[in-house]
Amino acid sequence: MYRFECICGGQVTTPVTEGRCLHCGRLYVIDCGTLVYNRPEDYNLTREEVADSNMPVACFLVIHPKGILLFDTGLSDRLVGRPLYENVLEGYGQIKFNTLKGQLADIGVGPEDITYLALSHSHFDHVGNANDYVGSIWLAQKAELDLLIGAHVDPDTAAVAAGLAHARTRVIDGDHDVFGDATVVLKYTPGHTPGHQSLYVKLAKTGGVLIAGDLYHYSEERTLKRMPAEELVTGTPASRAMIERFLIEKHARLWIGHSTSFFREAIKSPGWYE
Ligand SMILES: [Zn+2]
Repeated sequence: MYRFECICGGQVTTPVTEGRCLHCGRLYVIDCGTLVYNRPEDYNLTREEVADSNMPVACFLVIHPKGILLFDTGLSDRLVGRPLYENVLEGYGQIKFNTLKGQLADIGVGPEDITYLALSHSHFDHVGNANDYVGSIWLAQKAELDLLIGAHVDPDTAAVAAGLAHARTRVIDGDHDVFGDATVVLKYTPGHTPGHQSLYVKLAKTGGVLIAGDLYHYSEERTLKRMPAEELVTGTPASRAMIERFLIEKHARLWIGHSTSFFREAIKSPGWYE
């Protein structure tokens, strides 16, 4: 059998496109700010139970032979250089040292290069730069539309994401295989919000990872089986149970973007996972 060597290092028998096999790619973890927070009680955890009550904010970029996906846009780039006390929103102090746009430029990716934009959900710490990426095709969960461009948009979201109303939009309703080869899949995980979604990425060397979005915030929510009280009845228990089964089935790891322990250990852009 004829074998090709792919740039991911794999010996593959599938056709090669521009030096890549059809199943290789890169995943970047991008620093999109920090939320300074001291009320883990809102997540049904005590201060003694959480190692760190602050939350990093991560954005994720997937490079696939068929295109590029940006998952979440983090805290607004306009926060860079501003003091914490100017930017406290809903009890969360927002700090940002580097822009998303600048970090993408550092790895050679401009907004015009991004094929697809997907947001885990509509909250301000995930949509802060959405307006900069409305030239991409927006993969929008039907159940979240109303909170992003519909009648129930939060003013903090509208301030940074109103441009989505004019983006080329592909409305999806449930799981969505982004590039059609099952390596990059949006997983519908309602509960934190009605149209919340997580992202599964299968990489040649790293294996499978499931980017949780806000299905979990603190890693202790998972180990101690806790969640915000209001989410007990909005779908989070079923979404978490489904994802735990999915992780076992795919032999995948769970990445919790807001978890300090995850973010500290992660290879951050300009490094990457492949
Ligand atoms: Zn969040």
